[in-house]
Amino acid sequence: MGGGKSNTYEVIILGGGPAGLTAGLYASRARLNTLLIENALFGGQMTTTETIDNYPGFPEGVTGEELSRLMEEQAKRFGMETVSGEVVEVKLEGDHKVVRTDESTYHCEALIVCTGAEYRKLEVPGEKKFAGKGVSYCATCDGAFFTDSRIVVVGGGDSALTEALFLTKFVKELTIIHRRDALRATKIYQEKAMANPKIKFLWNSVVKEIKGDDVVRAVVVKNVKTGETTEFETEGAFLFVGLLPRTESVRGLVQMDEAGYIIANDNCETSVKGIFAAGDCRKKLLRQIATAVGDGATAAFAAEKYLEERE
Ligand SMILES: Cc1cc2nc3c(=O)[nH]c(=O)nc-3n(C[C@H](O)[C@H](O)[C@H](O)COP(=O)(O)OP(=O)(O)OC[C@H]3O[C@@H](n4cnc5c(N)ncnc54)[C@H](O)[C@@H]3O)c2cc1C
Repeated sequence: MGGGKSNTYEVIILGGGPAGLTAGLYASRARLNTLLIENALFGGQMTTTETIDNYPGFPEGVTGEELSRLMEEQAKRFGMETVSGEVVEVKLEGDHKVVRTDESTYHCEALIVCTGAEYRKLEVPGEKKFAGKGVSYCATCDGAFFTDSRIVVVGGGDSALTEALFLTKFVKELTIIHRRDALRATKIYQEKAMANPKIKFLWNSVVKEIKGDDVVRAVVVKNVKTGETTEFETEGAFLFVGLLPRTESVRGLVQMDEAGYIIANDNCETSVKGIFAAGDCRKKLLRQIATAVGDGATAAFAAEKYLEERE
């Protein structure tokens, strides 16, 4: 098949971040009739990243904008089609997958879900303005930029503590700001954090505003018990108040964990034959560009094998 019936493809990819663009590159280069559906900018989370220092091949680092542009150009080189739209639902019709967007309906044999994840925002003044200029949601990505700095970490769960512990490799001092008087994180992380001389705690406190000039200089903190508001000087604010998988369109169709991440095996195969998951939207250890592109390549190759076996 492929191309005969309008809106019908061998492979449809949901999401045009690094996982989706890599899956598109591999699928279209394997001469599969491929469509990628993206509802925002090609590049996904990379488009909101100032400098990427840990993606191989760029010894001086690369901007998120540039890496997005390069990946998009390369993915389109082999004839992949793209369409702009938000995927709202995926259904099965026998072995066929039916993908409905806000504007149209598409059909395919193999579907690769690459819809990523998004960081939960604090939704306070200054957060957007200073994103990439002192406000960060990723210690692995940005920790090294804060060498010898004095920073705050917001959150009290596992991710806040593991990221804070990782950040102590770089920073001079780190204060964890938590809205309760006890942490939610696993005991072992709590013990490690409490024992680390670089980590201090500000309990019963919430961040109300992030302030600065060109970069972050302070956070405004409110004590939820006393109501008192103070300004706390800092060079960076790492916000770990949750990561949300963007998997609504396939909820109820493929198996997911309790947080909504798609469960897929080493070949990126989900619980439904012919549906694959790649990148941040799947349950995995490390959510980074390098792991997303690895998943994208694997998922496209697995989709190709799936289509061959059905012939
Ligand atoms: C601020 C920031 C800095 C980062 N820095 C680094 C770094 O330095 N190094 C590093 O390796 N990683 C970094 N990361 C993490 C990295 O960007 C992600 O791990 C990676 O982008 C995941 O790729 P993905 O393709 O799985 O998902 P995403 O990049 O999230 O892409 C998913 C795409 O799917 C689209 N989409 C979602 N739902 C739908 C739908 N229903 N219909 C249509 N389209 C949809 C989205 O619009 C998005 O474009 C950073 C992330 C952030 C937010």
